[in-house]
Amino acid sequence: MNIDGLNIDGHTRIFGLIGNPVGHTMSPVIHNTLASYYGHNLIYGAFPVADDPVKAVEGAYALGICGLNVTVPHKSAVIPTLVETDDFAFKIGAVNTLVRVDEKKGYKGYNTDMPGLYRALQQENIGIAGETVVILGAGGAARAVAMMTASKGAARVLVLNRTVSKAEAIVREITALYPDCRMYAGSIYDLSNLPDEKFLCIQATSTGMSPHVEQAVIENSAFYERIHTGFDLVYNPYDTKFMRLVRQAGGRAYNGLNMLLYQGVIAYELWNNMKVDEDAVSLVRRRLKEEMGL
Ligand code: NAP
Repeated sequence: MNIDGLNIDGHTRIFGLIGNPVGHTMSPVIHNTLASYYGHNLIYGAFPVADDPVKAVEGAYALGICGLNVTVPHKSAVIPTLVETDDFAFKIGAVNTLVRVDEKKGYKGYNTDMPGLYRALQQENIGIAGETVVILGAGGAARAVAMMTASKGAARVLVLNRTVSKAEAIVREITALYPDCRMYAGSIYDLSNLPDEKFLCIQATSTGMSPHVEQAVIENSAFYERIHTGFDLVYNPYDTKFMRLVRQAGGRAYNGLNMLLYQGVIAYELWNNMKVDEDAVSLVRRRLKEEMGL
């Protein structure tokens, strides 16, 4: 059977995403576009898994599924069933990509979210080493961003959150792992302890996501004047209020679409033991934007 250039037959390798909900995922666009571009005989679908992600992973292995992405709320819950976990994913305590390892009769877990963010930053020539970084939020994504920036040699990382105790917990944990990085926790409602120099700000709260497009986690214009580069993990809407406030104050601003794209590209590279070229990346970026109606 030929579907949109893909030949689905008895040799087709099957990949997919588990999570809840998965209805709005863009991962099938990423992986099926890459498969079609490279002529790989594989398909990628989404599996809604409400309960028992461990059983879902075991069942996927039994069914011969070659690889899985894992999204909220299962990124940590699947770890006990894995036969191996990549060092960085182990430190973060969350996996988003599982690679089948037949010799060990199970999956190895990776976290491609943070390498994806790092590649997205590199693509825009945004450096981390020696930088002062302010992270907004202290959820799962912010924690991983704090880990990534500390591991890439940021000089100073400030984690600001609505619930300060969560920011403090991240700072304690990451300081123990990366003592050379000076880390601070604070409140998004108290901006009196901001660094003197201009900083890179990574917006890792869910504020401003569609349909709440008129919200930004901090509205104070004085805060935005301190930002030389703002990176919002949110990509829907494409232009967030946080990004607009950064630009209005004279900084550069980026959304999280390239992070999403590169976490998928890195997963595809792990599954297929290859490097995805920039033409393929550009094609996927175009398809994602079409999917978003842009
Ligand atoms: P999460 O664990 O649920 O954390 C949510 C964070 O947002 C917490 O810090 C929370 O503060 C804060 N928050 C929520 N509503 C708020 C409000 N009204 N005012 C102030 N703070 C508020 O979520 P997550 O998994 O870390 O994800 C965070 C964002 O990153 C989401 O928008 C997600 O889509 C995005 N993301 C993007 C990518 C990508 O590929 N581009 C990848 C991962 C995540 P409290 O702790 O005080 O509740």
